[in-house]
Parts: sequence; structure tokens; C-alpha cells
Amino acid sequence: MTIWTCFTCGIEHPDTPRPPANCAICDDERQWVPPSGQQWTTQAELIEAGYTTHVRELEPDLYAITVEPELAIGHRGLLVRTPAGNLLWEPPGYINEQVVDEVRGLGGVAVISASHPHLTGASIQWSHAFGGVPVLVSAADQQWIRRPDPAVELWSGVREVLPGLSFHQCGGHFAGSSVAHWPAGAQGRGALLTGDTILPGPDGKSVSVMRSYPNRIPLPERAVRRIQDTVRPLTYDRLYSAFVVVDTGAHQIVERSLDRYVSWISGDLPD
Ligand SMILES: [Zn+2]
Ligand SMILES: [Zn+2]
Repeated sequence: MTIWTCFTCGIEHPDTPRPPANCAICDDERQWVPPSGQQWTTQAELIEAGYTTHVRELEPDLYAITVEPELAIGHRGLLVRTPAGNLLWEPPGYINEQVVDEVRGLGGVAVISASHPHLTGASIQWSHAFGGVPVLVSAADQQWIRRPDPAVELWSGVREVLPGLSFHQCGGHFAGSSVAHWPAGAQGRGALLTGDTILPGPDGKSVSVMRSYPNRIPLPERAVRRIQDTVRPLTYDRLYSAFVVVDTGAHQIVERSLDRYVSWISGDLPD
């Protein structure tokens, strides 16, 4: 059987003789199906096409895992090392023996998760490569699981995943959208891994939140406030999204940016 990967979003689907009729992730109003239509690929095809993986240190105990050429939306996975085991956050939609060896050399993987369904990539293949480690999925997003597997474990609210690493459900982009809090990050000043739950601008000096980034669908005030209220009690200075980093001052930047957002959507600012 063949594991089918959607070429647009990079998310794996169950192993079936023929590809699925559609990708529910891409059909959703938050994503898109290209004008040329739905396309599927397989790991064998990607290997044949010369896709490669790269692991590089972002700061002590934090590594970025990227795929070249860029696959799907081109997000990077993050590997957080802790004394109790490693978190693989938002793994890419591609995996090969080389990257498995490299990650094993960094201590392997104890648990896998993602901020929301768009960035789940090949989570189940990554889990199987590391002995079937748990893949945590926000219970509110259960309907978006594309490849059911015994490794999947549902959670909600707040969850300590490893000593010194916790998940916090913020909602917004998806009902189950979450962030990972890593207090040891940024030399002990704390770091937040946000995926698409909170997305920085290109300069890393402001952030935004949206129901859909590519289709420019905003969030209502109550959703923005809930995100703000969820992350406010957390201690962090740095923020890693799926693409951009807010290097320092992230706590104040999130607070200020989300206040600004609410001002604009509620019409408090001049035209
Ligand atoms: Zn898709
Ligand atoms: Zn997303």
C-alpha cells in the first residue's frame, strides 16, 4: 500500500491502493486547492525527486528540521531537547533515513505534536520511525486527523507533555490551536512555539492571529482575547512560529499587537 501525501499541504493520508478523492485540509476555507487541481505524491516519489532534509541548531537544545526543495507550505519542524526526552513539533511532510539518524543522534523523539492540523506533516511516519511515540492532537481538532493511528492521543486545555514543556490550547485559527511553552528556552528567559496560532510579521517585531492567513479571514474579538489571556500568564521572551522568530521582547509584542488587532476590528482607530 502507499501512503499518500497532499502536495499542497504536505499532510500524509492513510495507505490505500489509490489516492483519496480530495484533501479535506485543502478543501477547507482556511487553505486552498491550486487552480490546477488536487495533487498527490508519495515518499518514494519525493526521494526519487531528490528531496533532502537539514537539521540545524537554532539555540542550545532547539533544532530546526527543514526539507529542500521546499515541500508544500515549506514550514520547518522543531526539535526541543529536554533531560526527560525530546519534543518533535510540527514535523515536515517528508522523512528519510538520514534525518532519522540525525535526530536519533540528538536523543531521538519522545513525543510529537503540532500547533494545529495544517502543520502535522508526516507525524505518523515520524512516530513509527521512533517506535510509535505518542502524537498529541488537540481533541477539538479531532475531525481533522487525516491518518488515524494508535499513536494518536487526544488532549485539551493545558497539558504538561514532558517535565519543563507544556501545551496550552488557545483556539482561534482552529478550535484546538495551541502553543508549546518551553521555559528553559532563550537562555532561561522562556520561549513559546506557536506554529500558526500566533504568527509574527516578516520583521519579527509584531504578530497577528487569523482564521486564515492565505485567505485573509480575520478572527473576532473574543477569539483574539482568548489567545491573549491564554499566553499572558506564561513567562517567555522569544517566540518561534512555523517560519519567523521574534527574538526578544515577545511577551510585550504579543500583548501590544493583539491589543492593536482588537482596536482595528472594533473600529476604535481612525480611518
Ligand atoms: Zn492538502
Ligand atoms: Zn494554519
